[in-house]
Amino acid sequence: MNLNLKNTFAKELPADPIEENSRRQVKEACFSYVSPKHTKNPKILHVSEEMVKALGISETDKLSEEFVEVFTGNKVLENTTPYAMCYGGHQFGNWAGQLGDGRAINLFEVQHNEKQWQVQLKGAGETPYSRTADGLAVLRSSIREYLCSEAMFHLGVPTTRALSLALSGDDVMRDMLYDGNQAYEKGAIVSRLAPSFLRFGNFEILAARQDHKTLKTLVDYTIKHHFSHLGTPSKENYIKFFAEVSKRTLDMIVHWQRVGFVHGVMNTDNMSILGLTIDYGPYGWLEGFDFGWTPNTTDSQHKRYRFGNQPNIGLWNLYQLANALYPLIEAVEPLEAILEDYKNNFEIESLKMMCSKLGLEINDDKDNELIQRLEDVLLLTETDMTLFFRNLSNFKKGDAKKGLEIVEAAFYVPNEVSDTIAQQWRDWFESYDARLKKESLLDTERTIKMNTVNPKYVLRNYMSQLAIDEANKGNYKLIDELFQLLKKPYDEQPGNEKWFAKRPDWARHKVGCSMLSCSS
Ligand code: AMP
Ligand code: MG
Repeated sequence: MNLNLKNTFAKELPADPIEENSRRQVKEACFSYVSPKHTKNPKILHVSEEMVKALGISETDKLSEEFVEVFTGNKVLENTTPYAMCYGGHQFGNWAGQLGDGRAINLFEVQHNEKQWQVQLKGAGETPYSRTADGLAVLRSSIREYLCSEAMFHLGVPTTRALSLALSGDDVMRDMLYDGNQAYEKGAIVSRLAPSFLRFGNFEILAARQDHKTLKTLVDYTIKHHFSHLGTPSKENYIKFFAEVSKRTLDMIVHWQRVGFVHGVMNTDNMSILGLTIDYGPYGWLEGFDFGWTPNTTDSQHKRYRFGNQPNIGLWNLYQLANALYPLIEAVEPLEAILEDYKNNFEIESLKMMCSKLGLEINDDKDNELIQRLEDVLLLTETDMTLFFRNLSNFKKGDAKKGLEIVEAAFYVPNEVSDTIAQQWRDWFESYDARLKKESLLDTERTIKMNTVNPKYVLRNYMSQLAIDEANKGNYKLIDELFQLLKKPYDEQPGNEKWFAKRPDWARHKVGCSMLSCSS
């Protein structure tokens, strides 16, 4: 295979001297060399054409046996040295010590069209960081990661990407709901891509071990390769680096809030240093608009990672990163100022984002209140977030009476919209209409603008579950159908109206649709 291979990470950062693949604490190193597991009967189920091009893979190479072998881990390309990264993390608010790439193996880096890509296999077998687990991934979670990461990209949300989805041909034992019912599932491997897979946790583990030398080496590497516009390493630039990570993290989370994405496990080991959405596990999409919703059953008691708490958790995680970087900066105030900015900017950016969802362009002091009132009414009955905002773009100035009719398809139980609630809606639409009259945009112009921020199609939880159910029966067509649909989430797609609909009733309490565990 003809690729423009690079190897900056392993070349420039300290390696674990032990090369044996055994579980261990890895000190004074950023990674361990490891080979992917040999799979029995690998089969590619889907390939992202866009990412094939992004890596500069030719059509011939894409269709070759070598492609299958390389992107499922059976063949290691010459002059490449696969490795697993060492990181730690705060999980559910507690320091968890060393975690690391337990089931991700980095193959190599590729440079193409002036972009750097780190290529990683998820589910390719044990590493020194696998702890008590097997390093493998099952088909259901692999389909979910594959489809969602590409869908997020097309929604305009910063994210890692995916190149291919494959079956390994091996069976994997899982206890899907952690209830003692173990069963074999099909093993799968996703090859995924990002300029870097570095997480907050890669920095935290070094700080926790007081290994300031390696910490500095890693931060310098990160700035050199991924934040080079900040200049050469210095205390001042470390501060700027933290400021930029903070800004990117906020930007990513505001996008999540805009499209109704709930990550589900915002542990610091799942926070990318580049501000990319990373590690698609028990994530979910809001159906009914609900700040308290989390898809993750592992978090159902405290709901730490619920929709409405994501911005706060972003901040909490940044505090942990600030602590990790502190030994290099040795000053508290600048770090605190950046965290303070995050809070202020969160208010500013969410207001901007909500205004864009409502088609409001000019500044108006009362917009906060208008949005607050909307959220209050939205929470009174189960109201589909995607349908609501998409249909709202059909609102016509001066026609407040029609408001409720325009959005009624979003109500899950229309009967629940009592007279009092309907009145609250009418009042809100009157205020919205009055507010729109201050804008100069024509209705048609506003519709177009709103439709670029309010997606028509998102990967509803039941949609991936349908693709998974089909795939488990050996039928992979729906994976491609959804993949193609979600490439144009903001477009009207007349043939695909069936996906612009509320979650069907059967999916309300179905495992995989509304309930997901970390087991994957
Ligand atoms: P997560 O919360 O899924 O991002 O995973 C937390 C940690 O557990 C990471 O270090 C993962 O690499 C590791 N991990 C998760 N699943 C597995 C698995 N099946 N085998 C080995 N390690 C795993
Ligand atoms: Mg993870």
